[in-house]
Amino acid sequence: MTFALHGIPVSKGIAIGKAVLISRAALEVSHYLVEPGKEEAEAQKLLDAFEQVRQELNQLRKGLPKDAPQEMAAFLDVHGMILADPALAEKPIKLIRSERMNAAWALTTELNDLLEQFADIEDPYLKERASDIRQVAERVVKALNAQKKDSLDSADIMSSGDLGADSIIVAHDIAPHDMLRFKDSAFTGFVTDLGGKTSHTAIVARSMEIPAVVGVRHASEMIRHGDWLVLDGEQGIVVVAPDDNLLEEYRKLQALDLKETRKLKQLKHSKTETADRVEIELFANIELPEDAVQALKLGAVGVGLFRSEFLFMDRKQALPDEEQQFSEYRRVVDLMHGLPVNIRTIDVGADKALGAGGSDVSQTGISPLGLRAIRWSLTEPEIFLTQLRAILRASAYGQARIMIPMLAHAKEIDETFRLIEKAKQQLHQRGQSFNPNIQVGAMIEIPAAALVLPLFINRFDFLSIGTNDLIQYTLAIDRADHAVAHLYDPLHPAILHLLANIIEQAKRANIPIAVCGEMAGDPSLTRLLLGMGLTDFSMHFSQLLLVKREILKANVGLLKSRVPRVLKAYEPEEQAKALERLMA
Ligand code: PEP
Ligand code: MG
Repeated sequence: MTFALHGIPVSKGIAIGKAVLISRAALEVSHYLVEPGKEEAEAQKLLDAFEQVRQELNQLRKGLPKDAPQEMAAFLDVHGMILADPALAEKPIKLIRSERMNAAWALTTELNDLLEQFADIEDPYLKERASDIRQVAERVVKALNAQKKDSLDSADIMSSGDLGADSIIVAHDIAPHDMLRFKDSAFTGFVTDLGGKTSHTAIVARSMEIPAVVGVRHASEMIRHGDWLVLDGEQGIVVVAPDDNLLEEYRKLQALDLKETRKLKQLKHSKTETADRVEIELFANIELPEDAVQALKLGAVGVGLFRSEFLFMDRKQALPDEEQQFSEYRRVVDLMHGLPVNIRTIDVGADKALGAGGSDVSQTGISPLGLRAIRWSLTEPEIFLTQLRAILRASAYGQARIMIPMLAHAKEIDETFRLIEKAKQQLHQRGQSFNPNIQVGAMIEIPAAALVLPLFINRFDFLSIGTNDLIQYTLAIDRADHAVAHLYDPLHPAILHLLANIIEQAKRANIPIAVCGEMAGDPSLTRLLLGMGLTDFSMHFSQLLLVKREILKANVGLLKSRVPRVLKAYEPEEQAKALERLMA
């Protein structure tokens, strides 16, 4: 039966393909198709893992101290019984044989089915058994992973060619670093139950130019593995099991979309200036060094934001040391051939967890108001100094610049500069070269910083407005929480006032000012930002040409004369009219 689900469109384009369901904890589990002919060996792996867990449970049972609570033994007995029930392995083995799913994937698929059945049970005792089954299954998955050593790796999902290029990932949620691992996999779109427009997962999807819809509440429950899906990343619609007519319509739209993209590519070589000859600089936001290649190809005049934390977010790896960081930063600097590269120091916390492998540093579950970004770096001076030295060393090879996220207090600024000086001294003592006049910039993304802008103007070489966080903090909306996503509004008069004010003050003081939040890459807002006097935009390279197209058509003089009316409009209707006039 055809039905449609609605969510938040975060990355445009139309994807048509079959659903690949990733279960909740499943990003911890490998997903791949076993090679034809290897099904029986895979089934045996599952049986071996069951046997291993059976032995483990027996040993635990035997080793229970005499004074152990009775419940403990009973608990192990229940787990033993669940494990001994042949039904638990039966279905996964069928899935391995018929669908060629790998063992862990087949088991978690069955587990989800079972848990769903338990969800409808009223009896509290039986309901409780659901968690026993989950725990047993998790033990088996662990045993499977131990067999395969490094198999806790979502990069295995759809290892190339396995599922063809027409697969759409459906998940409850995907962590930003997991998205990055999908970069080389063949899939055409993704749908998640959670997430908001500027959650980091959505940002990564956009940079990968993959149609995506997030915040589709119950998508992972309502869509079944293998369902045909049409995903409209422009409208935020997911059509499940589309009929032939619908499919044909969407295929036509998809073809139009591709044509449009080809046309857009022709703008690559034209100069970026408005119709009234105001020169505009377009920079790129990147998450990985190799993104710089695309950025340059599409005409970016520098990297306005290199989210360096993505180098730190692989949960299984130890944090990269100075040499590793230096080589990554230098790679970007080299790729950009002397153009500026703003390396934003680690911004972890909130929806970005820091890799903890081999270290005791963990950042899971840090609130957006918590120990994030520079706040965290200042509490970990050794990690911060290591990063600063690596950036400084890269500055000997090109225009690497330091950009600091989430500053609000003068004393944070003092401490940051103290550590930058210390990093310079350390390099000096080692005799290593760096640019002693490296530029240091601040992100303006906390309302407090926007309200004391002269402090930032006095202390820094350049400023960049992080609208994603500025909106989050001004409107008190967690940007990754779909429950409040409808309140996340870049056009809220408070935001427009803050933006206009920051840009105006910075321009007057003659300090470079850019916007590097998602607003800069939204072509529907280009005219508004131009009208506020913005000349430096930094966005995902996927948006560069769309924004450029708007710039080429715009008349800044006219737009500037129309912005005051937008700013004076506090009533929604009045604002809509003023904006309509601005866009006309
Ligand atoms: C922002 O907050 O607007 C920004 C660019 O930084 P991030 O999205 O990485 O928090
Ligand atoms: Mg930010």
